[in-house]
Amino acid sequence: MLLRSTFGQRNDGVGMTMQAMVCEGPGRPLALRTLPRPEPGAGQVLIAVRACGVCRTDLHLVDGELPDPKVPVIPGHDIVGTVAAHGPGVSAPAVGARVGVPWLGWSCGRCGYCATGRENLCADARYTGYQQDGGYAEYAIADARYVFPLPGGYDDVHAAPLLCAGLIGYRAYAMAGDARTLGLYGFGAAAHLVAQVALAQGRTVCAFTRPGDRDARAFAKEVGVHWAGGSDETPPAPLDAALIFAPVGALVPAALAATARGGAVVCAGIHMSDIPAFPYRLLWGERSVRSVANLTRRDGTEFLALAATIPLAVHVETHALARANEALARLRAGAVAGAAVLTPGA
Ligand SMILES: [Zn+2]
Ligand SMILES: [Zn+2]
Repeated sequence: MLLRSTFGQRNDGVGMTMQAMVCEGPGRPLALRTLPRPEPGAGQVLIAVRACGVCRTDLHLVDGELPDPKVPVIPGHDIVGTVAAHGPGVSAPAVGARVGVPWLGWSCGRCGYCATGRENLCADARYTGYQQDGGYAEYAIADARYVFPLPGGYDDVHAAPLLCAGLIGYRAYAMAGDARTLGLYGFGAAAHLVAQVALAQGRTVCAFTRPGDRDARAFAKEVGVHWAGGSDETPPAPLDAALIFAPVGALVPAALAATARGGAVVCAGIHMSDIPAFPYRLLWGERSVRSVANLTRRDGTEFLALAATIPLAVHVETHALARANEALARLRAGAVAGAAVLTPGA
């Protein structure tokens, strides 16, 4: 159909094929494939991908730790690109506009969660780069209602990490309430952005890294945190809240032990190893443990407005699209300071 009705070039001037890095099954490296360029359906836009962040969630996907992924699937859910074409019924954002595509790709709009501003909990929601194809490709499709305009102060590669690390980090940060002393466990893409927001808002920030990881500690100090140490260390003062970005269940009792009475421990990842049993006294004193799931479009609007007013120093390392496996390996090894970003448009 598509292949037979065209002769190498579509009438909108965009090539009919694209390069993509494809997850063809758990435990296998991503495969570079040439695929038909996707066609935007009703309500969708086609996006020419300029940059796509590499997220720990992509590692969980590749490792088969997330239930019921689309197979095969193109990963990637921190997408920055320009609108290349509209599907039927779409008038905005305009062709040529720069947009960001986040993890939340679609929600039902009708269930009890959607009706109460909690579309992040919608049981029928679909997620970018997981249940629908994402941004490890030259082109991606997105529902036009779920993409965001992006603040002008960030170029494409520096804007990409805002869309997952930034957004979901912000949702976790919001759950810390008015905590004055904030602990961040795992100092990667999300924590380095949350730390800057918290510092700009006058809070005290403690960064916890893998024990012995001097590079991560030095990076945290460079970002400006007040204290950086191993996750097995005691911070100089009890935390009012702790955000856990590392997928390590043992950090939950460690963070509870470092948190003051009444404080919250917020688990921000989509997957975590099992949480070991711990004495009730760590939870006693009205401490709480909760998780953060996904994001709402409202989180996106709020955080991107904040990112427009606080000039965040987004630390990135860039990789060509075809080098996605190397980028994932560096993330797995804890070797990335800040965020890794693929550049399909380069
Ligand atoms: Zn992510
Ligand atoms: Zn719903």
